[in-house]
Amino acid sequence: MIPESQIESCSSLEELNELVAKCTRCDLFKDAINPVPGDGNPEAEIVFIGEGPGKKEDEIGKPFVGAAGKLLKEMLEENGYKREDVFIANVVKHRPPNNRDPLPNEVEACFPYLKRQLQLINPKLIVFLGRHSLNRFFPDLKISEVHGKAFRKEIPWLGRKQVFMALFHPAAALYRGSMKETLKADFAKLPKLIEKINNDNNDSKSKKDQPELF
Ligand code: SF4
Repeated sequence: MIPESQIESCSSLEELNELVAKCTRCDLFKDAINPVPGDGNPEAEIVFIGEGPGKKEDEIGKPFVGAAGKLLKEMLEENGYKREDVFIANVVKHRPPNNRDPLPNEVEACFPYLKRQLQLINPKLIVFLGRHSLNRFFPDLKISEVHGKAFRKEIPWLGRKQVFMALFHPAAALYRGSMKETLKADFAKLPKLIEKINNDNNDSKSKKDQPELF
C-alpha cells in the first residue's frame, strides 16, 4: 500500500497522478475503469472539490465531464472563466460502484492525495461542490446553511488562513430548478470574491481559529 509519506513527498501533480493510478489504499480501485485524480491549471486560483467520479468520469479519467460537468463549465464561462483556468478534483479518486456515496474510510484513505494537490496548487479559494467535500473539511457545517458564504480558516497543513466557499453540487441542482438558480447565484459571487482576496491584507491579523465570514 502506498504510504502517506510517499504521497506527501510528491513534488508535482504528475507524480501524484502516477501514485493514484496504482493506488490500493481503499477498495474503490477494484471496480473502477480509470483513476480520476483531478484536472486543470496546476497554478489555479480556484480549486473546486466534488464528491467522486461518476460513470462518464470513470470512462474518460477526468472529473466533471458528464451533465454536471456541462453545468459547471457553463457557470464558469458565464462568470468569465475557462475550465482550464481552474482545477477540479474530488474527495475520492476512483468511482464508487453504482455512484454510491463514498464511505468514510474511503474518503480518509484518499485524503492525503487531495491534501497534497492543494499544497502543490496553493489556491486562493477552495470551493466545495456538495456536502461530501464540505464535511470532510468541516464536519459540523451544513451546506443548506453555508452555501454561497465565504469564510476563512487556519489550515495548518497549508500554513495559512485559507478562504473557502461551499456550493450545491451541480448534479443535485441539475433537475431542481430552484436549487439550480441558487447555485448559479452563489457561483456568480466568485469573481468578486477573488478580487476581494487579492485586495485583502488582513489575513495574518486575526488570531481566531474558527471558521469566520470572509
Ligand atoms: S479512491 Fe483514493 S485511496 Fe481509494 S484506491 Fe483510489 S486513489 Fe486510492
